[in-house]
Amino acid sequence: MIKHCPVCKTDKNISLFGSDKRKRDKHDAICLECRRDYKKRNREKLLISQRARRKDNDDYRMKHSAHNAVLTEIRAGRMTKPDKCSQCGAKRTVEAHHHDYDKPIDIVWLCAQCHAKEHSKMEILQ
Ligand SMILES: [Zn+2]
Ligand SMILES: [Zn+2]
Ligand SMILES: [Zn+2]
Repeated sequence: MIKHCPVCKTDKNISLFGSDKRKRDKHDAICLECRRDYKKRNREKLLISQRARRKDNDDYRMKHSAHNAVLTEIRAGRMTKPDKCSQCGAKRTVEAHHHDYDKPIDIVWLCAQCHAKEHSKMEILQ
């Protein structure tokens, strides 16, 4: 019996298709070769997304430890949190902004507005 595979667009002997009991002809809709390719591609996609997730976690951990380093400096009295933004000078609650998370205490104090602006700039540069 011959069955058409819609992926490689080839007519193949049905023995070259895997079995699938849910299908009417008890065979997979695509041939064994295409099924293998499909699985392989899916695995690659999965690996890529796993790797991306791991990178996000690393970024998060780095930001977190950089933030903690600043808090430690403040508590130890080696650093003071100013009451105004170093960029626009507005008297607002300021947040520590890191240019480089590898240098956890090399920071500038920015208000939320300037901070957000600074981050969108960084994203463009990346
Ligand atoms: Zn095929
Ligand atoms: Zn500001
Ligand atoms: Zn920042």
